[in-house]
Amino acid sequence: MSGTIKSAAPAAPGVKTRADLYAHALAIETEAAERYAMLADQMEEHHNAELAGLFRKLSGIEAKHAKEIEDRAADLDLPALDPWEYSWTGPDSPEALDVHEAHYLMTPHQALRLALKAEERAFAFFEGLAKTLDDPDLRPIIEEFAEEERDHVRLVKELLERYPPPAEGWDEDMDPPVTQE
Ligand code: ZN
Repeated sequence: MSGTIKSAAPAAPGVKTRADLYAHALAIETEAAERYAMLADQMEEHHNAELAGLFRKLSGIEAKHAKEIEDRAADLDLPALDPWEYSWTGPDSPEALDVHEAHYLMTPHQALRLALKAEERAFAFFEGLAKTLDDPDLRPIIEEFAEEERDHVRLVKELLERYPPPAEGWDEDMDPPVTQE
């Protein structure tokens, strides 16, 4: 968990300028686009055309956002950040998913849970930034990004309701001690 904000310490000390902000947002959106493309592939393997289509659509939305940020940042010199220079606590951007979790055997529910975690991290990143970065010029942009991620969280939560967890307990209850390992 990204944890709570304990003090007025900046959530992302590396974000000070508009260029820093766009560089971080661009990384988040690009990762998100890749993530959804990968989840779409996974769901195709599961022959879940509906969810594959949805993830494909989400990938397109995130890619479009990335493109928009690129356009908005066109006249700025975006810092070419190395992975470790980004202002997040882990090695990956907040919206990146844990690829180790993303391997085969992923059910639609698991895929959506991964997407939700990533969207929540992205939202928390921008929200933390909005709370701690006291810059009247950047604030509206940060809030706009946070709002976008809040929408993504909402959307994935709605999808999760349609794809509840597989009833694992049900199996176990149905053939109890007969099973041998
Ligand atoms: Zn998102």
